Amino acid sequence: MSKVEDFLTKAEEAEVVEAIRMAEKNTSGEIRVHLEKKTDIAPIERAVAVFHELKMDETQLRNGVIIYVAVKSKQFAIYGDKGINDKVSTDFWNVTKNIMVSHFINGANKLALVEGIHSAGEQLKKHFPFEDNDTDELSNEISKE
Ligand code: CA
Ligand code: CA
Repeated sequence: MSKVEDFLTKAEEAEVVEAIRMAEKNTSGEIRVHLEKKTDIAPIERAVAVFHELKMDETQLRNGVIIYVAVKSKQFAIYGDKGINDKVSTDFWNVTKNIMVSHFINGANKLALVEGIHSAGEQLKKHFPFEDNDTDELSNEISKE
């Protein structure tokens, strides 16, 4: 499983996008998934770089979250914007990461992402509840490189 194209089937990809859409019904936070082949730097550092490349730091409440996966490197990271980090402890994403690891170990890529997104949404809504005037500030589509 070393190619980005092989990481998820089209149907699985649609399920991941739907998971993001559902998660964002409960929180003003914005979740995006980025897939690429490999990273030569620490996945969290690469996640931060991609986060900025995708202009995910331009949400009103600074509450965007990236789930970054380097498929060939078999590494992933979760990075949330300043608005989130100002409110939570550094272990905030550990629950979500652990859920994802448990599925990735089994080769269940789609489940790792869907359950990770669900968990991230649950975490986010504690601090960033959904508001009636919410807009979809960041695309729910998976970003790939
Ligand atoms: Ca939104
Ligand atoms: Ca969105």
